[in-house]
Amino acid sequence: MVVKDESSCVYKNRDAPVEARVKDLLSRMTLPEKIGQMTQIERNVASPVAITDSFIGSVLNAGGSAPFEDAKSSDWADMIDGFQRSALASRLGIPIIYGTDAVHGNNNVYGATVFPHNIGLGATRDADLVRRIGAATALEVRASGVHWAFSPCVAVLRDPRWGRCYESYGEDPGLVSEMTSLVSGLQGVPPEEHPNGYPFVAGRNNVVACAKHFVGDGGTDKGINEGNTIASYEDLERIHITPYLKCLSQGVSTVMASYSSWNGTQLHADRFLLTEILKDKLGFKGFLVSDWEGLDRLSKPQGSNYRNCIKTSVNAGIDMVMVPLKYDQFIQDMTDLVESGEIPMDRVNDAVERILRVKFVAGLFEHPLTDRSLLRTVGCKEHRELAQEAVRKSLVLLKNGKNADKPFLPLDRKAKRILVTGTHADDLGYQCGGWTKTWFGLSGRITIGTTLLDAIKAVVGDKTEVIYEKNPSKETLASSEGFSYAIVAVGEPPYAEATGDNSELTIPFNGSDIVTAVAEKIPTLVVLISGRPVVLEQRVLEKTDALVAAWLPGTEGQGMADVIFGDYDFEGKLPVSWFKRVEHLPLDANANSYDPLFPFGFSLNSKPL
Ligand code: BGC
Repeated sequence: MVVKDESSCVYKNRDAPVEARVKDLLSRMTLPEKIGQMTQIERNVASPVAITDSFIGSVLNAGGSAPFEDAKSSDWADMIDGFQRSALASRLGIPIIYGTDAVHGNNNVYGATVFPHNIGLGATRDADLVRRIGAATALEVRASGVHWAFSPCVAVLRDPRWGRCYESYGEDPGLVSEMTSLVSGLQGVPPEEHPNGYPFVAGRNNVVACAKHFVGDGGTDKGINEGNTIASYEDLERIHITPYLKCLSQGVSTVMASYSSWNGTQLHADRFLLTEILKDKLGFKGFLVSDWEGLDRLSKPQGSNYRNCIKTSVNAGIDMVMVPLKYDQFIQDMTDLVESGEIPMDRVNDAVERILRVKFVAGLFEHPLTDRSLLRTVGCKEHRELAQEAVRKSLVLLKNGKNADKPFLPLDRKAKRILVTGTHADDLGYQCGGWTKTWFGLSGRITIGTTLLDAIKAVVGDKTEVIYEKNPSKETLASSEGFSYAIVAVGEPPYAEATGDNSELTIPFNGSDIVTAVAEKIPTLVVLISGRPVVLEQRVLEKTDALVAAWLPGTEGQGMADVIFGDYDFEGKLPVSWFKRVEHLPLDANANSYDPLFPFGFSLNSKPL
């Protein structure tokens, strides 16, 4: 039965203070309704019956759009509004909050603007640009019905063997903190008097942000994904907790726990860090969500059975459980744990209060359904221009000319004949990297956008002949005298959450061989498209004329052409130290032994001052 007596419901009064609405609603809820709010399920199991009858609090999609490959934003909005109607049909009509991994634009959706991954944004050093990207992303995310972006990842990257490097803004806690301006872009900028740690969402053009993964995810031993961060509390605070302070001051509404461990304790079981530090000491008043099946991954003894995992994690401070598939088991065990007193009722009330607070703050009770007028923002000109600006500013020039007094860049756009080659020269999927259309990314024309080759063709003169070969043929290289220069784009294929612990970090697909084969015959610019530094062999360093780190630039490849042909200068600075050899990792910029190929912050300009 849906509650009808509107007048007596403080929680339905949009003018009542948020805290009063939270208290009122909580006082009306049964245990199943409370547990439902703590439950987040995957959209493929989110039937209307599941949502209405189990009082589900949140639905998400995993990092991808499958099975609706080329679905547009309006299809997503239809789906999510359908879920919302099921939630509104429940007894108290509490709206769901729908979440997605919009980590570089609304990357799951065909036609959305895909911005550079965070590592490239870290190279820009431009906090305001990142805030503007957040605001543009919020519009495109909201247009597809989504209320919550699992972003930004504020990991401080300490070892490039980590397979999630590109999700980090860089190795320096100060740099990562600056770049958390994405939170103010996604959620809107809170007023000055806004209380630290209290959730904030400005309006219907904004989304709930999620700082992740709390904490130490980028500092694991040997860069092992989901590994162990070995550090004193002081170091953990100084390096890895620092960016969260900046997020909390901007009113970040949610935080996601990390799969990783701190000194052997898995974060999903760490009451000290989740509750005593994040909530009590730092004053976080939003809600803490687990990572995908984060509870299931607890090791023994807590992990001896699922019931124990729930008990440990919820008591440690997890408020919403990302339990994508087996939610009925979660609800059953959770009910049993509360009834037996193993999870105190106060803990449940605290978790639900936090979730409701964010839902009220985000305006979901007043505006549960999608504002279709936002659809015009998806992949719009302004957003693509913003992404192009970001690409331009993210490029780091590592080498320019074989002799310091003879710069190779900018390239001559009126050259007669040029060779464009390499695995990454004409691959939009590779340019975007992981977390684009699917969790681990794809190859090819996966969405609307411009590859490096498209961009080169668009900027060179009418009389310039552009020869493109993905793999340069022997014949082409034999006839190489006719080429003014070559642009070789090589790098990493897409991946997500890769283990990375035994990675060689050489340029994949024999990239170094391709580069040297071309550079031996033709003056060569190498554009590296990768989520992290890779090994630059001596032959590559010596034989090439210029080297540019382009990171994972996303859909707007023109940004690369803008800079290499000299319409704009290079502005990017390395967000991470470029190591010489894998054996040297991890590098510590403060250690006496620090001996990188290019230090943190390194940059060259293409035009002499
Ligand atoms: C990742 C998170 C992500 C979540 C939801 C997990 O595997 O670690 O970063 O937000 O999945 O897709």
